[in-house]
Amino acid sequence: MTREEIRQILRMPEKDFRREVMPLARETYRKADNQLYGMSMLGYSNICRNQCLYCGMRAGQKIPRFRLPVEEIVGSARAAKASGFSRIFLISGEDPGYGYEHLLQVVEGIHALGLEISLACGEFSPSQYQELKAAGAGEYVIKYEMGQREVFNRLNPSTDFDKRMAAIEAVKASGLKLASGNIVDYPGQTEEMLIEDIELMVKLDISWAPIVPYMPAKGTPLAETGANGGPAKPGERLKILKEIAIMRLLMPEIRITAQQPGDDLREGMASEQGNLDALMAGGNILFCDLLPDARAGAFRVVDHRELKGVSHFRKMAEMSGMELSL
Ligand code: SF4
Repeated sequence: MTREEIRQILRMPEKDFRREVMPLARETYRKADNQLYGMSMLGYSNICRNQCLYCGMRAGQKIPRFRLPVEEIVGSARAAKASGFSRIFLISGEDPGYGYEHLLQVVEGIHALGLEISLACGEFSPSQYQELKAAGAGEYVIKYEMGQREVFNRLNPSTDFDKRMAAIEAVKASGLKLASGNIVDYPGQTEEMLIEDIELMVKLDISWAPIVPYMPAKGTPLAETGANGGPAKPGERLKILKEIAIMRLLMPEIRITAQQPGDDLREGMASEQGNLDALMAGGNILFCDLLPDARAGAFRVVDHRELKGVSHFRKMAEMSGMELSL
């Protein structure tokens, strides 16, 4: 697909996109794989040293903080396995206090259970990614969020673009699969920037596009950039659907997050409308949160992050005509 063709899809009226592009993307995935991947997910620390301007967990944000001990994380993974999951996605803020050696113990403990492990724990050194791979991790999620150096540096003041891209390259060099992508339709993102972000995912040859629309998180600097200093507008739902479909057409076999909001943001990320639309546009992963509700409420990069469990996966698989794989 040329840059011009991507642009045409991004400019297409919704009716034409739903009639012409979504079915093509869905059919591309039906031929390539057609599995709906239901993944267990555990946010094991919501402590973060960083100050990303859009994130509800940024340092200084007033939320109850927690860190789960190694045994509790491995215990949750064991319970996930007993419920039929074969994959787990472990996430944390960038929390140096967690102790890298503890993370290695977590990975070793879960690997011994036979689960596939994807991690998203921030920037590490090249040798640390290699150690995580050796300990049994299979995939690492490290997003570039926005592919333009100046914009990235402004919105992510605790790190910088070159450092992030070096970390992304180090993940690839370690042999871990790389999951990476952008935020869609945050305040200030232009069409050209969105296209560059899409092209960067292809260039990096990602295994999973963990893409989400911008969702304003209360109390964060970027959320306060809307009209009259009010909340900024959430990313347009049509734009994330278009990006999902474009990514599916460009990379038929990768995984793409289908856990997307619907029109009513209060339904969180498990909106049936949002999830089903994303599946029909070529998305293929949904998540089941292993955190108990009280803690899940404090693990909030965005305000409405609510998820549903396996019965929701089954319903979505049936409605989309996909085969559920836990
Ligand atoms: S996006 Fe990640 S690194 Fe940035 S503040 Fe939030 S949790 Fe921390």
